[in-house]
Amino acid sequence: MTNSNRNILVTGGAGFIGANFVHYWLGQHTKDKVIVLDALTYAGNIENLTPVKSNPQYTFIEGNICDQGLIESLISEHQIDTIVHFAAESHVDRSITGPDAFIETNIIGTYALLKAAKQKWIDEPKSQGKEVIPHRFHHVSTDEVYGTLSPSDPAFTEETAYAPNSPYSASKAASDHLVRAYHHTYGLEVTTSNCSNNYGPYHFPEKLIPLVVTNILNNKPLPIYGDGQQIRDWLYVEDHARGIDLVLNKGRVGENYNIGGNNEWANIDIVKLICKVMNESFAEDESLASRYPNAKAAISGETESLITYVTDRAGHDRRYAIDATKTNDELGYVPAESFETGFAKTLKWYLANEAWWVELL
Ligand code: NAD
Repeated sequence: MTNSNRNILVTGGAGFIGANFVHYWLGQHTKDKVIVLDALTYAGNIENLTPVKSNPQYTFIEGNICDQGLIESLISEHQIDTIVHFAAESHVDRSITGPDAFIETNIIGTYALLKAAKQKWIDEPKSQGKEVIPHRFHHVSTDEVYGTLSPSDPAFTEETAYAPNSPYSASKAASDHLVRAYHHTYGLEVTTSNCSNNYGPYHFPEKLIPLVVTNILNNKPLPIYGDGQQIRDWLYVEDHARGIDLVLNKGRVGENYNIGGNNEWANIDIVKLICKVMNESFAEDESLASRYPNAKAAISGETESLITYVTDRAGHDRRYAIDATKTNDELGYVPAESFETGFAKTLKWYLANEAWWVELL
């Protein structure tokens, strides 16, 4: 379906990408209704939805995607015709120390959503002699399902075989396969996007970029795993939201689309760049030193001295890189932000929203 008046169930909409997507969508598609379903785990934060809380097109429901009955009643009550599925356990380190929650939410939860969608959009109308309800199930996945690349390997395309290496990426790969199977077996109208590492506002400070920013402001060490040469393709979160919009409105049902940022950086280089920008920001704006008197390294222009190498993550993938040619050619997707421009916006947001991140440290 490619209609303009959707009733969208956004799972995980109180998390980092989900919340940015909700802000984006309600700004771009003012007639659509957005119903956020989120269990508010440690990573979910209702404050992330403050910018839209008085929008009459927006509703928040606290609940778990594993609850098939709840999903079915939400689809009926709100006449949901589109599901955009972000809800997941998303932190690789946590998946290494505690994989159970990843299996439960990422696999069982996606399965429950698929069952509910099939029941309400396909089975129930058919059993009443009616047409299948026009619908779309969009699944948000990751480039990590493709495994790891050497520095000279070509970037991941949609044809790259899945080879997940962490419990996180294995659970996401399993959910991708279930989504695919529900299309091929039952005709559920699905699309999947596989995106690279996102960054931007509302990013939980356990992840690399907000961790580095907040640690610099608190004069804490900047931990770098192993040799710091792990390469990631950084995607500004609003570019990701635009990419999903294109997939929903122009993408072909049953297809996967890669969404990347054309921004490959080694972790150590990203951290050094952030250190440089922080030094410059403190040098240009004297008020920062009085707002963040603990940021001694930034005040003295020596932020890089905070870099501390720590033991590498078990099974750490060396390189992810997205080839988004298909998404570009078919849908006209082009990321708008370079890392420099996206990071400038991100830093501005963290400096203006200290109350948000201080709570989470
Ligand atoms: P996040 O951890 O910030 O947010 C996840 C959200 O899901 C939270 O609000 C949490 O409360 C909610 N949630 C978790 N379990 C739930 C459950 N059982 N029921 C309902 N809600 C639940 O994650 P994110 O970084 O915003 O990632 C969103 C999606 O994008 C995930 O599917 C992730 O795999 C995918 N992804 C993320 C990145 C990235 O760089 N962050 C990259 C590629 C793909």
